[in-house]
Amino acid sequence: MPDDAGLHALREAARLSPDNLPLRRHLAEQLLTKGYLAEAETEFRAALVLAPQDPDVITGLAEAFVRQSAYGAALSVLEPLLADPGHAPRAGLLAARALLGEGDVAGAARRYHDAVARDPSLADPGLAERLTPQPQPVTPAPPYAPETPLNRAEDPDDAEAERSGVTFADVAGMEAVKESLRVKLLLPVQQPELFAAFGKRAGGGVLLYGPPGAGKTHLARAAAGELGAAFISVGLADILDMYIGSSERNLRATFEMARRHRPCVLFFDEVDALAARRSDMRQAHTRQLVNQFLAELDGVEEHANEGVLVLAATNAPWYIDAAFRRPGRFDQMVFVPPPDASARAAILRILCRDKPLAEMDYDAVAKVTDGFVGADLKGVVDRAVETKLRQSISAGRPLPLTTNDLLTVAQATRPTAVKEWLGTARNYVLHANDSGAWDELMPWIDGKTGKTGMTGMKGMKGSKGRW
Ligand code: ADP
Repeated sequence: MPDDAGLHALREAARLSPDNLPLRRHLAEQLLTKGYLAEAETEFRAALVLAPQDPDVITGLAEAFVRQSAYGAALSVLEPLLADPGHAPRAGLLAARALLGEGDVAGAARRYHDAVARDPSLADPGLAERLTPQPQPVTPAPPYAPETPLNRAEDPDDAEAERSGVTFADVAGMEAVKESLRVKLLLPVQQPELFAAFGKRAGGGVLLYGPPGAGKTHLARAAAGELGAAFISVGLADILDMYIGSSERNLRATFEMARRHRPCVLFFDEVDALAARRSDMRQAHTRQLVNQFLAELDGVEEHANEGVLVLAATNAPWYIDAAFRRPGRFDQMVFVPPPDASARAAILRILCRDKPLAEMDYDAVAKVTDGFVGADLKGVVDRAVETKLRQSISAGRPLPLTTNDLLTVAQATRPTAVKEWLGTARNYVLHANDSGAWDELMPWIDGKTGKTGMTGMKGMKGSKGRW
């Protein structure tokens, strides 16, 4: 609980007049301004019960979500506001930040430009820079060929199932995380007799959590490749948003598709979107959806999900409902940590391995990229390669990528919000770890020193944890 005298008085006043909307809204806004995000969220939710249509309350709640990296939840609350073309520009700006957080750069850019056109005071050069489309590489021919594309499955009706081209060898570090996935996901399928002999049954899902861009999707895709399984990736927010009214049908179809492609890794991104919506306006409908999701996960018939390995990822694990954690469901949580210096060097090595290289000093680049996650490092390498490509075209011959190329781009790049994420995680973890669910996150939160607060932490070891 924040111990600020002004806030304390406000909180007291709100406690005495719980139905006083202006007061509650003011308290919520103060909490937001002062950065008490989890408490601000609670207060905005309470205000929303009093005034479900109040645009300021909705926008405030959305901001609390965005600043806690709960982008799916932010978009969900903003949805009714954004449907009105006359919505407040601030709502549009928040939508831009949430869309960017979800990786939809084009959608984010549209929202951002619309908001700033209507209210120029909202201009945010840092955000605008991240929305600028990267220059497209000019017909990249070998040796600067783009990353190996993942081969699509042959079934033309089934555009969502991929054959994964990456394996654990493409994932730098995270040995403990890989090991835990191997035991949980791969061994039961590769050696079913062994598992049966110990009375273990395959099944149940693993929830990967960690800051955006740390490699959760990459890891899930690699697990599929490691197993030679098909990979189906589903953004839960898509299922919920795109097919309002037929989300149940979509969920069922998704699971059925996975069963048709077994062995298959079925990956749900943004699984918090489902959980966050349980408390929103469309409650009855979302409860039904959660139940349906859980029923599919449990498998309608006994062996329904044999050979279907369910992974889910979230940036906001604190929103996941307890019902998801029961045995046989997402009964194991795996923390995908932000990389420390040696892990960053290993990621850079993997990202650069198919490029023509001068002698590289990845450690030097790792040193100046404190606070960068895998996705940020990929951005650095992509941009350095594009520049080199243009230089090669001018020179008429391929020029090798150098350490300096990477350093130049890295120094001009701002990383995504790992520090902010760890701050949010801290709010939740410090006071909610009675069950030990967050044990593996604790060292990352406690040992805060240095620029990102990650110095002295354990690197990309990661470890498995039980709920
Ligand atoms: P998340 O799902 O956690 O938001 P992603 O899996 O999308 O993050 O990571 C973004 C990109 O960063 C990946 O496509 C991959 O290229 C790179 N990356 C992240 N972590 C690693 C890693 N440990 N090893 C190699 N590449 C990585």
